[in-house]
Amino acid sequence: MPGLSLYLLGVYVLLAVVFCVVMLFGPSSDGPIGRVHRGVCGCLANFRQTVERIVGQACCQRLETAEDYVCWRPNPLLASLYVSIMLAFAFAVVRFLFPLVPNERVPWVHRPLSLAIIAGGVALHQLCCYANPGVITCETVAEFADGFPYDGVMYTPKFCETCRIVRPARSKHCAICDRCVAKFDHHCPWINTCAGERNYRLFLAFLAYHVFVCAYGAAMLVRIGAWLAFDVHKLHDAYYLDERGAHVAVSVTVGVQYLMALHPAVFSMLFFASIMGCVICAFFGYHAYLVGSGLTTNETYKWADLHAEQRRQRRARERERADAAGPDGVPGPAAEGAMPRTRGTYPLADATLDNAYNRGVARNVREVLFPPSLRVRRLLQRVTGGAEARARPGAAALRLVHSLEKARGQPSAVPTTAGPADHKKRQ
Ligand SMILES: [Zn+2]
Ligand SMILES: [Zn+2]
Repeated sequence: MPGLSLYLLGVYVLLAVVFCVVMLFGPSSDGPIGRVHRGVCGCLANFRQTVERIVGQACCQRLETAEDYVCWRPNPLLASLYVSIMLAFAFAVVRFLFPLVPNERVPWVHRPLSLAIIAGGVALHQLCCYANPGVITCETVAEFADGFPYDGVMYTPKFCETCRIVRPARSKHCAICDRCVAKFDHHCPWINTCAGERNYRLFLAFLAYHVFVCAYGAAMLVRIGAWLAFDVHKLHDAYYLDERGAHVAVSVTVGVQYLMALHPAVFSMLFFASIMGCVICAFFGYHAYLVGSGLTTNETYKWADLHAEQRRQRRARERERADAAGPDGVPGPAAEGAMPRTRGTYPLADATLDNAYNRGVARNVREVLFPPSLRVRRLLQRVTGGAEARARPGAAALRLVHSLEKARGQPSAVPTTAGPADHKKRQ
């Protein structure tokens, strides 16, 4: 069957897309995707146990330690790996593609353009690595304090013992970087820093740019492949002789196999660019969905925990009510005590869990592109002229935010630079 390979490829791509959707959207979903995600996670846990039985516990632990060191410790290994991959790709472009360009289908300009596009990716990566994600210290806490209100569900004022600040809503202490980061999204080992309020737009630009890089690379490689197939090897006119000596036109599958054998570098690069393009596109789509929904990756885990707890409380309450009702709905001996206790013990069971930070797609996008804390910082610099901020950066900011809150008649959630005892009193 000539097109079987293409059908199989289609099935693989479809399965990969479904897997990405389940793994990305599953944790925050309470519907079918969430159920499939929980099932897949259960299977993966069983798979891990099976692997452990085969390779031994010691080997598994060593692999886990390596993964922990590479991904979840502050080190530049994966960031360096990214740069190495891009340099290797640039080398492969010069070594294997430059001899094929220019041609009838790919003009000369794509020689320098392809290298410039790869260099742009590396430059954007370095920007992401070194940009401030929104680190909160005693000096900068006032810039972030007014950005988002505490919703009372996921975020309440909490004191960070390490950073000596009351954490603003949506912030988190990154255990890897050991610092509090505003509107914490996640710690990304590929840029060896957190994605937070101040650098999240750069992180999104990094993802979008690499979708473009992969799409551009794949498009160019397809055009080079088409030039090789139709203009160099003239496969549309080619034929081979079967066992009876009859002329058989070359099928797409045979033609692709022929080209792959003659030009493995072109097809390896096309395969790599296509797969990476799909993966990064899925990841970018997931983050676009988060932005539109007013969520961070960290909050999807918090919502998943809240929904799981709500389900647990509902099940426990139903069990308790069934026990209290006794067989055939006749109240059992525990009924009298069980029902009132049910109301007090399961506060989440009937709660409506709404995301207080979802302010509509347009405003959510604006908050990402123009972080509120940068506006506050500019305001502070305008008011103080920068002189006081340079002398004692935190003092001017704190005074201004306190006076703003006093004018609005709101109690301050912003700490003074006093000791922790004062912060605890405020909570
Ligand atoms: Zn902290
Ligand atoms: Zn971090």
